Amino acid sequence: MTATIIDGRAVSEIMRKKMRSRVESLGLRGLRPGLAVVLVGDDAASQIYVRNKAKACENVGMHSEVFRYPAETSEADVLQKIAELNEDPRIHGILVQLPLPAHVDNGKVLEAIVPHKDVDGFHKQNVGALVTGESNFPPCTPQGVMTLLDHYEVAIEGSNAVVIGRSNIVGKPMALMLLARSATVTVCTSKTRNLSQFTEIADIVVAAVGKPGLLTADMIKEGAAVIDVGMNRLPNGKLVGDVAFDEVKEKAGYITPVPGGVGPMTITMLLANTLKASEMVADGEQAARRATA
Ligand code: NAP
Repeated sequence: MTATIIDGRAVSEIMRKKMRSRVESLGLRGLRPGLAVVLVGDDAASQIYVRNKAKACENVGMHSEVFRYPAETSEADVLQKIAELNEDPRIHGILVQLPLPAHVDNGKVLEAIVPHKDVDGFHKQNVGALVTGESNFPPCTPQGVMTLLDHYEVAIEGSNAVVIGRSNIVGKPMALMLLARSATVTVCTSKTRNLSQFTEIADIVVAAVGKPGLLTADMIKEGAAVIDVGMNRLPNGKLVGDVAFDEVKEKAGYITPVPGGVGPMTITMLLANTLKASEMVADGEQAARRATA
């Protein structure tokens, strides 16, 4: 069997096309969605991600602003910027590019973002809402994975799903979203003994670890849907995922490539969350106007 290649770029483009018309509709109501990105330090990968996010905003007609700070910027200055953005009516979504320098407390900064502008979905209020299935802003990468599975009509309900990795930004929310759709979910970590005993029986495997070649063909079931979240830069400069793509694609039913799979979807979901945040503001303003009319 040769797997269907899940094309994240194509699905992203379909979604972005729909978003452009929603952005235009908001424009007619006098509102332009705005995303603020805060970048502290000069991490090369972060610089690229931030540039891509700003470009993606422009691409769908949204406003974006990037605030770049040197690595030695104090935590207080970062918090001050977040406080200003919380109040800024042109900004509907705030994203703090991680990782932050060691002297800045990640948790403190993420908690400082008002939950209705937390388009990355990392504020504890939104994390809690995800657990109860009421989140407005599910984290972008796992939301992108769910969108790809749905687009390719991979059956989720009743499936055996294995998530490899338990980070707060990918593995844990991924597991919750699959569970919410009635998959039977197993989460594997670095402490899991004999990883393949779980992956071998999985209908859906999501690899979110950061180790090239972690998932090989002998570890999966024939026809499984294999989603590769990993992004690893090899010494020769090549970008690869966690899945041994060439051999796994010969056995899987569906597989995401790296690059061109989950990556583009992450940015598209950030746009989707920002658009949703702005539509919530527009609807709220409309309701307030009606109430006072
Ligand atoms: P992370 O915070 O480093 O978490 C990695 C997880 O993998 C941890 O839970 C760790 O377990 C687990 N792990 C490590 N070795 C393992 C092994 N041998 N078997 C099973 N589990 C193992 O990483 P992350 O932020 O979730 O990111 C994971 C990967 O996704 C990275 O390559 C990252 O670059 C990529 N990523 C891609 C996107 C995208 O848009 N495509 C977005 C975010 C991240 P413990 O908890 O036990 O240590």
